[in-house]
Amino acid sequence: MKRRTGAAALAAVAMSLTACGATITLPAIPTASVAATSSPTSSAGAAPSSATPSAAATSTDGSMRQGLPDEVVDRLTLSRVFLEVAEVKGLHYRISGRVVAVGNTSDSVLTTVTDAADESIPRIEALSGQHAKDKYLILAAADDSTAQKWTGDSNVADADGITMPYGKAAWIVIPTGHRFSDGGRVLDDDEYFTHVMDHEVFHADTLPVDFDDPSVPEWMVEGYAEWAANQEVSTGPEKEPPARLPSDTEVVDDTDDGYFRAGMFVQYLADRFGTSKALAYYRAMLVATHGSIAEEFHRATDADFTATVAAWQRQFHQQFVSFDPEWQWVSD
Ligand SMILES: [Zn+2]
Repeated sequence: MKRRTGAAALAAVAMSLTACGATITLPAIPTASVAATSSPTSSAGAAPSSATPSAAATSTDGSMRQGLPDEVVDRLTLSRVFLEVAEVKGLHYRISGRVVAVGNTSDSVLTTVTDAADESIPRIEALSGQHAKDKYLILAAADDSTAQKWTGDSNVADADGITMPYGKAAWIVIPTGHRFSDGGRVLDDDEYFTHVMDHEVFHADTLPVDFDDPSVPEWMVEGYAEWAANQEVSTGPEKEPPARLPSDTEVVDDTDDGYFRAGMFVQYLADRFGTSKALAYYRAMLVATHGSIAEEFHRATDADFTATVAAWQRQFHQQFVSFDPEWQWVSD
């Protein structure tokens, strides 16, 4: 898929990004199997109590520090990824009121990531109605191999952000060094990056820890995140995609703008039934003991799911032509 900015101000920046908002479909990283204390040889991977900020801190700009902060150690020790993070050289971190950002990136990249998340978090939490008690953990990977290590996701090269709902609470990986086919990186365009961050923060804010439920359709997981992200910076294709709720495969591969279609369906639900009922449906489906897609839909909205999908399809053309994206792409 080739995408480029549609806004005049950004016309010179031809972007080509493959997964619109990123993916959370990835092999599960077993939790609790790797205790940090079992790694006596790695200084960064030693017992959490020894990896204090002050132990490794050399401030580079007042707030940027080297090493791993307690927050990260505390958050990741339940996950195997902790050792993958701890062993990466040249880590810096930055802490704000709501964010712990860690990366083997430059100070300016880490600052950009932290600032974007700081703006995104209150916006998304106001929409979702869910306030995370822990800071959001964001890992900024300087290169593809680091992003790969931190996600265990074979599709990481196609994603511009990945949310990992494992460990103590979900965390977000941003592959900041990845260059898409036209040479652009995800941080190169402020508007697009805002959309990506909102999308990932919505995942991190709302997905249950260890979420891995194949009975929840991909259109729901990605469509709600796209819908949330479209509230601040709306993205969409130039060409109208088919008016069809995307299958799981169409979302994972972003076939015929699968992410976008999923987001449009959720927008329709929010417009027709209200944000509160649309979110109630989403939340009900994330509970492990949820009923079928149609049962939970009826419970939340009092409407029939199949008839609602058909009604959405009938108005899709109108919805598409009235949708005015701030960031637009050309599909292959
Ligand atoms: Zn996503």
